[in-house]
Amino acid sequence: MNIHEHQAKAVLAEFGVPVPKGFAAFTPDEAASAAERLGGPVFVVKSQIHAGGRGKGRFEGLGPDAKGGVRVVKSVEDVRKNAEEMLGRVLVTHQTGPKGKQVNRLYIEEGADIAKEFYLSLLVDRETSRVAVVASTEGGMNIEDVAHETPDKIVTFFIDPATGVWPHHGLQLATALGLKGPLAKQASALLPQLYKAFVDKDMAMLEVNPLIATGDERLIVLDAKVSFDSNALYRHPDVVALRDETEEDPKEIEASKYDLSYIALDGEIGCMVNGAGLAMATMDIIKLYGAEPANFLDVGGGAGKEKVIAAFKIITADPNVKGILVNIFGGIMRCDIIAEGVVAAVKEVGLKVPLVVRLEGTNVELGKKIINESGLDVIAANDLSDGAQKIVAAVRAGK
Ligand code: ADP
Ligand code: MG
Repeated sequence: MNIHEHQAKAVLAEFGVPVPKGFAAFTPDEAASAAERLGGPVFVVKSQIHAGGRGKGRFEGLGPDAKGGVRVVKSVEDVRKNAEEMLGRVLVTHQTGPKGKQVNRLYIEEGADIAKEFYLSLLVDRETSRVAVVASTEGGMNIEDVAHETPDKIVTFFIDPATGVWPHHGLQLATALGLKGPLAKQASALLPQLYKAFVDKDMAMLEVNPLIATGDERLIVLDAKVSFDSNALYRHPDVVALRDETEEDPKEIEASKYDLSYIALDGEIGCMVNGAGLAMATMDIIKLYGAEPANFLDVGGGAGKEKVIAAFKIITADPNVKGILVNIFGGIMRCDIIAEGVVAAVKEVGLKVPLVVRLEGTNVELGKKIINESGLDVIAANDLSDGAQKIVAAVRAGK
């Protein structure tokens, strides 16, 4: 789960991390009064969307010369004017995709005196089972270029969760950022704060870009992007409360209500599968036969008919879906439950695209019988490969 920059900064501040003062604003009036409270003389008006690259982003409907999603201004009146221009407008960045994201809230922040920008992130490294710390002296809006062109300027080291942060890690960070004196000291103090926030809140990723040194030698977190491990959200009601559903795919929100593991993708073949491994294999084989999956969907082991109906409805509601592949290997999940769910869902919402069903395992004969007797226009498949080939062919024929 992702949160906004201003929320991430508030979470980090709880752990003592230095962040600039600021207030969230949903209207131009709120933006102006936030600026008044801050006092100035420099304000930054920052679009809050769940995507990075805002500074270099472009607003739809404003010319190519218009300013991006992060604007530095010098008066309360200019804060209001920029807020009026930005709120409700779609911001396109290299992370939003071409559709962009509508800006529904702003963060009005005090302007910082930037002497240097650094990059710093913490993430779970599955290979080493440790927390990876990634740091670079080349922070700011061009970090992607740095990664491509001068990868040696990015330093990575690891913290073992069994022993936590040691003083030498702090030194390692200061060295990686090329810091000396008071700034090195502040880097050493910052790392355990960020690490504690990361672990205590079950973050999956914490990216600070930029971390800055100010003209008067203070180290400040100027941008923060945080995502949380969804499997651990049950123990963080405070984090769940930060959720902004306007930033999420409505299909994914619907799926989460039914406890379905669903991720929307850009392809044309909707998949309904049980088990994450089989779901991955199904997506792979669709690609192998030259098409793209429209989603990842694991209906789970013990799904009842209601869950299957919900899953089928979510798939068919996606206008990109040009064909559906149901691929079930019944173990705990029974094929007859799937068949009943599919039949009931089609009766309710209709079926406008080809449907291939491959059933195997527990109660397979009963499942096939339910589908055959339903009168549904279903293409039966014998195995995974057969099913994938048939749905790809059916979608091609339909074009
Ligand atoms: P994004 O990463 O989405 O582009 P950032 O928050 O990193 O957004 O802002 C982009 C750039 O804007 C930063 O690299 C920094 O140079 C500048 N900036 C951001 N916040 C401030 C601030 N409070 N004061 C001064 N400059 C800022
Ligand atoms: Mg940034």
